[in-house]
Amino acid sequence: MIRGLLVDQHGRCEHYHSELDVVANKCSVCGDYWACHLCHAAESAHPFGQIPLDEPAIECGVCGHRMSYQEYGPRCPACEAQFNPGCSLHAGIYFAIPR
Ligand SMILES: [Zn+2]
Ligand SMILES: [Zn+2]
Ligand SMILES: [Zn+2]
Repeated sequence: MIRGLLVDQHGRCEHYHSELDVVANKCSVCGDYWACHLCHAAESAHPFGQIPLDEPAIECGVCGHRMSYQEYGPRCPACEAQFNPGCSLHAGIYFAIPR
């Protein structure tokens, strides 16, 4: 189950709701999947808990397939749903990216 504000059955929320915004990210603190970090901030008292790059923490909102950041691409590897290319701009919020 994907948490967030006004989440539809594919993981779209009040903040990101285009045809391509169907990805959910897991927070390592609460262990829940969220439609986006803004939804998490609105409903949680803790900062978003980042996930290591090789841990499955991204859920495809179309088929429910879970993948790590390393497996994440422009399409879901399981159902080939297209993902929003803009999402990767926010990777630093969701993942512990080594710098
Ligand atoms: Zn959390
Ligand atoms: Zn949201
Ligand atoms: Zn999928």
